[in-house]
Amino acid sequence: MTLRKGKVAIIGGGISGLSAAAYAAKQGYDVEIFEKNDEIGGRARQFKTENGYTFDMGPSWYWMPDIIENFFIDFNVKSSDFFELVSLNPQFEIVFPDQSINLPEDFNEIVQLFESFEKGAGKKLIAFMEEGKEKYEIGMKDFVQKPCHSWLEFISLNVIVNALKLDLLTNYRSYVSNYFKHPYLQAIMEFPVIFLGASPKNIPALYSLMNYGGYQLGTWYPMGGFYSLVTAMEAIAKKQGVKISTNQSVNKIIVKDKVAKAIQIGDRILEFDFVIASSDYHHSETLLDKEYRNYTEEYWNNKTFAPSCLIFYLGITEKLPNITHHTLFFEHDLDVHVEEIYTDKKWPTDPLFYACCPSKTDPNVAPSGHENLFLLMPIAINIEDSEEVRLTYLDDMIARLEYKTGVKNLKSKIDYQRSYCINDFKKDYNAFGGNAYGLANTLGQTAVFKPSLRNKKIKNLLYTGQLTVPGPGVPPSIISGKIAANEINI
Ligand SMILES: Cc1cc2nc3c(=O)[nH]c(=O)nc-3n(C[C@H](O)[C@H](O)[C@H](O)COP(=O)(O)OP(=O)(O)OC[C@H]3O[C@@H](n4cnc5c(N)ncnc54)[C@H](O)[C@@H]3O)c2cc1C
Repeated sequence: MTLRKGKVAIIGGGISGLSAAAYAAKQGYDVEIFEKNDEIGGRARQFKTENGYTFDMGPSWYWMPDIIENFFIDFNVKSSDFFELVSLNPQFEIVFPDQSINLPEDFNEIVQLFESFEKGAGKKLIAFMEEGKEKYEIGMKDFVQKPCHSWLEFISLNVIVNALKLDLLTNYRSYVSNYFKHPYLQAIMEFPVIFLGASPKNIPALYSLMNYGGYQLGTWYPMGGFYSLVTAMEAIAKKQGVKISTNQSVNKIIVKDKVAKAIQIGDRILEFDFVIASSDYHHSETLLDKEYRNYTEEYWNNKTFAPSCLIFYLGITEKLPNITHHTLFFEHDLDVHVEEIYTDKKWPTDPLFYACCPSKTDPNVAPSGHENLFLLMPIAINIEDSEEVRLTYLDDMIARLEYKTGVKNLKSKIDYQRSYCINDFKKDYNAFGGNAYGLANTLGQTAVFKPSLRNKKIKNLLYTGQLTVPGPGVPPSIISGKIAANEINI
C-alpha cells in the first residue's frame, strides 16, 4: 500500500481546480474537489438542449496548444488520446466598416495579406512575430511558471537578462503602431490583448506573445467542443485518484491557530491537511474570518477587472452563409467601447462583438442543417443587468449578423435562445462584480503584483485560478493549478 502524504481539499472544479487536483494527487496526496454547481468545468462548462444543440458556455479560442499539451505530457498522455484538435482555416474573420478580412491558417499567407495592405508590412510582421516568439519562450516557459512571491524568483532567470526584450514598460498600442500604420492591421494585432482584459494603451507590449501563441501557432478547435478538454482533465485527475463531488458549495474554511483545519459544506465539517481554493479569489476570502484574509474590500474595489460579458447561446434552424467559425464584428471604434467598459462603466453605445459558430467545424454541436451560434459582447463589471437590456443588444447583434450573412428575418429562425450575463456570473461562480475573465493584465497587476497564491497568515491555504498568478485564460489557469499544487509542501 502506498503511503499518502495528506488530505487536500480543492474548492471549485474549474480548469485550475482540476489541474491543481491532478498535480497534487500525482505528488501522493489524497485529493477531493468540491464543486458548487452540478457539473465541473466552471467557466468552461457546457450544456445540451433538448432540441439537439451543445453549447460551450465560455472558452472557444484554443490558443497556445503547446502549453495545454504540457499538461497531458506531465501525465504521460497526449491530448489526442482524448480528443481531436482541428486547425481552423481561416483562423478568424474580422468585419470592418467597409470590408472583412480573413486571417489564414498559414503564416506565409498572413505575411502576404499584411503586405497587400501596407508596403513592407509583411517583413515587419515576420519581425514582430520573431520578437513575439522570444517573449513567448521567456514568458510562457519561465515567467508564468513562478509562484511570484517576490521579484527575487526572477533573478536567476533569462528574464532579467532579457528584460528589455520583454518590453514590460512599453505599452501595447505604441508597440503595434511602431510596426504597422494601417488601422486594420493595427486592429488585427491589437485584438488578442482584449482577451487580457484591458485597453491596448494599458497593457505591456510583453503580451505580443499572445499574437505568437495565436496567429503563428494556430487557432485550434477540440472536436466535441472546448468541454472535451474539461472531460480529458477530469479523466486524468480521476486516474490519479482524485475524488470529485458536485453540488457541494463550501461555505467556510475553518481555521484554528493559523492552520486551515477543515471546510464546511452546509452543516458538515470535513477535515483536511491542505486547502486549495480555486473559486474566485474574492469569494474564497469571504469563506475566511476577516482577520485571516489577504485583502480588504477596498483592495478589490480598487483593482482593474477584466470585463464581464453579455452572451447569447442561439440555435438557428438553417445554415448561415458568409460566416466563419470565429467572426469579430469590429465595425465600430474599439477605443470608445473600451472606454465605456473601463472608464464610464456603462452599457456600450456602439459595441463590438464576437460570434462563434462551432457548427461550421463540428457537426455534433447542432442538429443537421442547423447552426450553433454563440454571441459575446464585452461589458463593464457590476453594471445593472436585466433581461430587457440584454434583449436590446441581441437586436443590434442580429441586425449586424443579417447584414453580414444576407439572411433576412434571422430572429424567426432561432429555435433555441438563452442569455448569460453579470447576474449569472455572480450566481454561478460567485464572481466579484460578475467578472468573466478575472483581473486585467495591466503592468501593475502582473506577476508579484497579482493577488498572492499563498494565504499570508495560513500556511496550508493556497489560492489558484484566473485571479492569481499567472492570470486569465485556459492555459494560464492550467499552469496556476500546477504552481499551487507544487507549493503545497513549501
Ligand atoms: C465567456 C468566456 C469566454 C472565454 N473565452 C476564453 C477563450 O476563448 N480561451 C481561453 O483560453 N480562455 C477563455 N476564457 C477564460 C477561461 O475560461 C478562464 O480563465 C478559466 O476557465 C478560469 O478557470 P478557473 O478555474 O480559474 O475558474 P472557474 O472556471 O470559475 O472555476 C472556479 C470554480 O469554483 C466554483 N466555486 C465557486 N465558489 C465555490 C464554493 N463556495 N464552493 C465550491 N465551488 C465553488 C465555481 O462554480 C467554478 O466551477 C473565457 C472565459 C469566459 C467567461
